[in-house]
Amino acid sequence: MKCASCGKESEWTVCGRCLAKRESLVYLPPVITLIRCPKCKFFKVRGKFVNLEFNKALWDEIERRVRIHEEFIIKNFEIIGDGHFYTYIISGEVRNDNIEFNGNFEVRINKELCIKCSRESGGYYEAIIQLRADNRKLRKHEVDSTIKIIHEMLEKEIENQKAFLTKVEERKEGFDFYLGDSKIAKKVARKISNLYGAKIVESKKLAGKRDGVDFYRVTYLVRFPEFEKGDVVFERGRYILVTNVKKGIDILSGEKVNLNEGEVIAKFEELGEGVIVNVDDTAIEVYGEYAFIAKKPEYEVKIGDEVLFFRDGEKFFAFPKWFSDLISA
Ligand SMILES: [Zn+2]
Ligand SMILES: [Zn+2]
Repeated sequence: MKCASCGKESEWTVCGRCLAKRESLVYLPPVITLIRCPKCKFFKVRGKFVNLEFNKALWDEIERRVRIHEEFIIKNFEIIGDGHFYTYIISGEVRNDNIEFNGNFEVRINKELCIKCSRESGGYYEAIIQLRADNRKLRKHEVDSTIKIIHEMLEKEIENQKAFLTKVEERKEGFDFYLGDSKIAKKVARKISNLYGAKIVESKKLAGKRDGVDFYRVTYLVRFPEFEKGDVVFERGRYILVTNVKKGIDILSGEKVNLNEGEVIAKFEELGEGVIVNVDDTAIEVYGEYAFIAKKPEYEVKIGDEVLFFRDGEKFFAFPKWFSDLISA
């Protein structure tokens, strides 16, 4: 058979080349519009704001907008441009003929604030994390670590439309973190609790109605324990050197123990240093800033051992200095 138009040998009445002249095999609009949130830079793709690179968002829109003739089998589709003006080259096959097309389009970006950013700028929050410490001020590392945990959690749920930190308030007694999502707030509170042995108290407060449903705000009071690593605490009849979160060493028996609510007897920086100058069956004599007699520990000690000591009321207590090597970094 010969092509009716050009006379070339073809299986069809009109060959591919001639069909390409008669019918538009490719249609791409001259302007491709992308919608991007000016704040978080997410692109709106099929009605949803997502974290996409510009090129991916552009391709997605091109795929949605391009019209291809059903007989055109595309082998290659390329775009070249500078973020604004583009040339496209499409090559493929129609009725066994190789065809190449090219054309131009322009990319425009329209701004639209996404739901997440508009909530955030509207001061939306579902939960407050109240960061506090028992009988002492919060340490800088505790605050820094909490901020880091919050940002990590928000990063993990970047497409969650409530994943933002609305505001942070510094108060006399600690820090308040306002979070868009109460579930994220809960995860943050739990993580701090696991890492630092902080106690959590959760409370809910009715804050009106949203879409006809009662809307509650949750407060997570997260309280760091008074004791810190290196402190000596008193708990259930034992004096314990705190070596880690919720862990310590009984200074008289040398046993490793778990901690709950130890009462601080001496802060690490208050511990004195001395040397054992005498040992008998029940007592040791220590010489340092003070000379004193203390109860002999259940483990082996000898004259010349270096010790750390503290006082509880009238009594002195001492333990080997190397115990402090067990305090985790
Ligand atoms: Zn032809
Ligand atoms: Zn946004």
